[in-house]
Amino acid sequence: MPQRCELAVIGGGLMGAATAWAASRRGLSVLLLEQFDPGHHHGSSHGSARIVRRAYDDAMYTRLTGRAFELWRELEFDSGSPLLRILGGVDFGARSYVDAVAGQLADAAVEHEVLDPREAERRWPGMVFEGPVIHHPQAGTVDAAAAVTAFLDGAERRAATLRFGTAVRSLQEGPSGVRIVLDDGESVEAARVVVAAGGWTAELLGDRLPLPALTVTQQDAFHFPRLDAAAGAWPSVIHEHGNGIYHLAGGRDGGPGDDRKIGEHYGGRRTTATGRDGVVTAATRQRLTEYVKRWLPGLDPVPRTETTCLYTTTPSEDFLLDRVGSLIVCSPCSGHGAKFAPLIGELTADLVTGGEGPPAAFRLAAHTARHG
Ligand SMILES: Cc1cc2nc3c(=O)[nH]c(=O)nc-3n(C[C@H](O)[C@H](O)[C@H](O)COP(=O)(O)OP(=O)(O)OC[C@H]3O[C@@H](n4cnc5c(N)ncnc54)[C@H](O)[C@@H]3O)c2cc1C
Repeated sequence: MPQRCELAVIGGGLMGAATAWAASRRGLSVLLLEQFDPGHHHGSSHGSARIVRRAYDDAMYTRLTGRAFELWRELEFDSGSPLLRILGGVDFGARSYVDAVAGQLADAAVEHEVLDPREAERRWPGMVFEGPVIHHPQAGTVDAAAAVTAFLDGAERRAATLRFGTAVRSLQEGPSGVRIVLDDGESVEAARVVVAAGGWTAELLGDRLPLPALTVTQQDAFHFPRLDAAAGAWPSVIHEHGNGIYHLAGGRDGGPGDDRKIGEHYGGRRTTATGRDGVVTAATRQRLTEYVKRWLPGLDPVPRTETTCLYTTTPSEDFLLDRVGSLIVCSPCSGHGAKFAPLIGELTADLVTGGEGPPAAFRLAAHTARHG
C-alpha cells in the first residue's frame, strides 16, 4: 500500500516550507517532498538576505506586507531564531514610481518620510542619491536560508514528515486525491497536493493546469565590501534606474563587515531550472561595478563574492496561487516573493482547508484574463 497523507507539499524552498509550517499548525498531516538536500543552491531560496519592506506602488501588495510582517514575528517566536533585521528601506529614482510608492504608504498609514537627496546623503554617507528619496523604517532584510530552516523545523515539530533527496516524477489525479509517483518508482497518495516547485512548476503542472507563461531567468547577485564597515548600517534600497537596482545588507553570504548584496531586478538570463548553468554573466558584473562607482562610493568596487539564483516570473509579476480539484499551485516569485513567505504559507493552507484563500489577482483566471 502506498503511504497516504492529507497534504503533500512538493518543494522545500521558502514557499513549500512556509506551507508545511502553516498547514501543520492547523493540524493537517503533512508530507514534504524535496528533490535536493536541505540548504541547496539550485532554486530561489538560498542565501542569507532578501529585502523585506512595506513600500510598493500597489495598494494590494502594500496591504499584504503588513500581515506578512506579523507572521514573520510569529515564526521568529515559534523558532526562537532572529530572522529579520530592521534597517529601514529607501526608494528613489523614476519620479512616477517614487510618487506612487509615497501615495500607497500614505494611504496605508505606514510611517514614512520624503527626503531631499542631500539630506539622504548626510544620513547614509557613502551613498549618492538623486530626486526625492522615500524612507520608511519598517523594512530591512530577512535571512532566507534560516527562514526555510525555521519553517521546516516548526513543521517537523508538529509531526510533518520531511523527505529530502526525493524527486517527484508525476502526479495522477484520482477520485480520492492524487497519486504522486517518485523518481524511484515508489508512490505516495495525498488528499491534496501543493506544488511549490519554483522554476520547476511548469515541468510538473504545465500539462494539468492552465498556467500563465512562467519565465525562468538566472539572476546574478554580487557582494561588494563596505569601505568603512564600522560606519552605520545602511537601509535596504530600491533604485528605479537601469534594469531596476536593489541592494541590501548581505548578512552571512559576503565576507566580514556586512558586504552589500547588489542585483538587477530585470535583465536576468532566460533559462530553465534544470538547464541553468550557474555562471554569472560578465556584462552584469561590469554594469554593477560601474553602478557601484557612480552611486555607492562607500563600497569597494570589486565584488568579493558572486552568486546566481532563479526567478520564476508571471507576465504581470503577480503571484500565482490557486487550487483546481486536489491540486494547488503555489508559485509566488517574480523576484519579490520572499518577503511574503509566511503569508503565502497561510494563504496556501487556506486553499487546502477551504478558507478565504488568496486575493483574486493571484488566481489562474486572473492571470488568463490579463494575458490570454
Ligand atoms: C537573486 C534573487 C534575489 C531575490 N531578492 C528578493 C528580495 O529581496 N525580496 C523578496 O521578497 N524576494 C526576493 N527574491 C524572490 C524570492 O527569493 C523567491 O520568491 C522565493 O525564494 C521563491 O521560493 P520558492 O519556494 O517558490 O522556490 P524555490 O526556492 O526554488 O523552491 C522550489 C523547490 O522545489 C523543489 N522541487 C522542484 N521540483 C521538484 C520535484 N519534481 N520534486 C521534488 N522537489 C522539487 C526544488 O528543488 C526547490 O527546492 C529574490 C530571488 C532571487 C533569485
